Amino acid sequence: MQCQCIQHFGQPLIQDERPDMTPTGTEVILEVTAAGVCHTDLHMREGGVDLGRGERLNYADRGIKLPLTVGHETVGRVIAAGPDAGEIDMTRNYVVFPWCGCGACDVCRQGDENLCATPRYLGIHVDGGYATQLRIAHPRYLFDIGDLDPARAAPLACSGLTTFSALKKLGDSYFDQPPLLIGAGGLGLMCIRLLAALGAKAPVVADIDPAKRAAALEAGAAAVIDPASPDVLSEIASACGGTPPRAILDFVGAEATAKLAFNALARNGKLVTVGLFGGAAPWSLPMITLKSVHIMGSYVGSLTEFAELIEIARSGAIDAIPSTVFPLDKAEETLNLLEEGKIVGRAVLSPATQV
Ligand SMILES: [Zn+2]
Ligand SMILES: [Zn+2]
Repeated sequence: MQCQCIQHFGQPLIQDERPDMTPTGTEVILEVTAAGVCHTDLHMREGGVDLGRGERLNYADRGIKLPLTVGHETVGRVIAAGPDAGEIDMTRNYVVFPWCGCGACDVCRQGDENLCATPRYLGIHVDGGYATQLRIAHPRYLFDIGDLDPARAAPLACSGLTTFSALKKLGDSYFDQPPLLIGAGGLGLMCIRLLAALGAKAPVVADIDPAKRAAALEAGAAAVIDPASPDVLSEIASACGGTPPRAILDFVGAEATAKLAFNALARNGKLVTVGLFGGAAPWSLPMITLKSVHIMGSYVGSLTEFAELIEIARSGAIDAIPSTVFPLDKAEETLNLLEEGKIVGRAVLSPATQV
């Protein structure tokens, strides 16, 4: 098998050849058909995230072991299964739930494996999908994609699930007015599609990049906002129906976007922070009290939410976001394009297009 892995943090990915995988116990081996490329993969290659105020979260200090094959948005076909994996249809394409926990603690047993204190996330703690083969601990992480195109289904595992879970955290009362989405990358575009699939009002979308604003309009945004505009707050309020938005999702998670979100948010509004760009909170503490706002984080999503999302996707209700397929051996170049902001929608690696 071949994989594209991190040998040293801060260095380009390297291509490695390894023996074919063999499963034990409940394990399942997939032949990868599509592997989505996410911003988190850039943080992995870099070796950490900027926490702001001069602090940094270093993956090496957090026990992330190298070499590591990144990639957590994976679709593949089962080619081998361990003796305890049970019956699996080997003709199907499955999208993999990558946010695996220990499987044994109370949090995992309640279905929130993504919040387990000893996570085993694919492409972060254990080898992921930038490879021709992928090892999965248990078939419960496999979801049949039906007739969906693998390249379109792969992003459901992160950008789809992350936005779905964030929207669920808003609660029904926050959907009376168009929400404001900040960032029109893979997550922002997916969120526009999901809101349409859920029958919610089309969102207002802010992004600094004109090409991404155009992509947001194309995907169905009600209006787009340039955060650099001098009247940005009144433009947001007027696009959201004449009053400041009660619901804001920040898919960037940078100091500038957190500041914009907080200033734009209505009293008693809810800000859900999803992005991991980096930095520290720029808000004044008394203003949190005076505006009575809710600020919360949302990281990926649960197995139950994933099952629900895949069912919606299989029904055909979610229009796919734009995606560009690159050969697996161009993983490093694809990450560079993403880092330079040159990917509109999602980039997906495919071993099948390997040259
Ligand atoms: Zn991701
Ligand atoms: Zn657990």
